[in-house]
Amino acid sequence: MTKVLVVGGGIAGYCAALAARRDGADVTVVARAPGATALYAGGMEIVDDLDSILQSPHHPLARLGIDAVGLATELDNAISTLQLALGKEGLKFEGSWRSRGLYADIHGLARPANVVPESVARGELGALTGKRVAVIGVPQVGDYDAASTAQALKELHGIEAFAEDISIAELPQAAALTDLYGRRAPSPRARGAAIAYPPGFTNLPPDGFELLASPPSPHGWRLQQAISLGAVAAEVTSFETSRGRITAARASTRAFRADAFVLATGRHIGGGLRAGRVTTEPLLRLGVFHEGVPAASLGTRLHHLKYLDPAAQMRMGVMTDRRLHPLNEDGQVAYSNLYAAGAVLGGYDYAGPCGFGVPILTGWLAGRFAAKP
Ligand SMILES: Cc1cc2nc3c(=O)[nH]c(=O)nc-3n(C[C@H](O)[C@H](O)[C@H](O)COP(=O)(O)OP(=O)(O)OC[C@H]3O[C@@H](n4cnc5c(N)ncnc54)[C@H](O)[C@@H]3O)c2cc1C
Repeated sequence: MTKVLVVGGGIAGYCAALAARRDGADVTVVARAPGATALYAGGMEIVDDLDSILQSPHHPLARLGIDAVGLATELDNAISTLQLALGKEGLKFEGSWRSRGLYADIHGLARPANVVPESVARGELGALTGKRVAVIGVPQVGDYDAASTAQALKELHGIEAFAEDISIAELPQAAALTDLYGRRAPSPRARGAAIAYPPGFTNLPPDGFELLASPPSPHGWRLQQAISLGAVAAEVTSFETSRGRITAARASTRAFRADAFVLATGRHIGGGLRAGRVTTEPLLRLGVFHEGVPAASLGTRLHHLKYLDPAAQMRMGVMTDRRLHPLNEDGQVAYSNLYAAGAVLGGYDYAGPCGFGVPILTGWLAGRFAAKP
């Protein structure tokens, strides 16, 4: 049986583990801590336009060398397996990578998403048109104001929204949104309206839905808890290598031996990239590229760009070949049994329409490739 070690406990590492196990591998996931997955707002953006992705030469999905039909099939498999697995952990998701909806966050601003928790799905803005919406406020909570959220829903999206404050007596004064986490949703007085709750409550009524979050995010925390089950809590600090292959990953107290390794260490929040005058990949000194050019060769230009346009600078990351083998700075495959997935990869807009699509699909494929190295 092939032994696969996945380094990283975010959505990319989880999808890699799902795929490798499905292909019969013996999989261990090692994770230091929660990363960016635990902060996501609550709406998974998978892809918007596959054809335009395939025309971006450095995009991690374009670099797979798979045509639009092939990518669509892989996305179908990856997303349905992920939804099934999360459902078994008690987290139900709705939607598909083929459809996109708009969902309001706690400030009433709309964000697009393809796949959302069941508790968010009922708040799709198009479906709220023509309905009255009660936005639940909690007077003790200081970092969220239901009245301004209702106003934004009205002004920005033409929704007939109004605020209803419900006091939760046992909360301290100046409580935070995070203090609502895990509490039973209070029932409003308003009847016949859809009910928008700040995220975190449980046992929502049938006509209730959750707004998207800003960090710290209850949606992210629930997802992170569901995907962390079974992961080994440890920090990989180095690797043992022999003749172009990795043989083991070392953490402080033990070595994890395997036949194949998946690097799903995330970007700056996860720790897969280290920011500095030149951004580096700290574990294996893999090449870090910006628009196909090694970041190290761009001198201080990228560092400067960070101040002018952080989004462009955030397109930097590890680059892979068609089998998701990460490359060294000279463009050669670094290790024949190493695969990279998720936000550690560059060439796409991290905060854009593939925020979850790249980690899910590259994780899924990296797991499959690693199971049959
Ligand atoms: C605030 C915020 C909100 C976002 N909201 C959305 C959204 O609403 N929709 C959307 O589509 N996208 C969103 N994104 C983007 C999305 O969350 C990320 O792209 C995605 O979660 C990245 O997943 P990942 O598994 O690649 O990385 P991460 O989730 O960061 O996971 C990396 C993992 O690697 C581990 N790791 C790193 N180094 C080591 C090591 N040496 N040893 C052991 N473990 C290690 C970390 O501990 C962590 O477990 C958001 C991002 C942020 C920051």
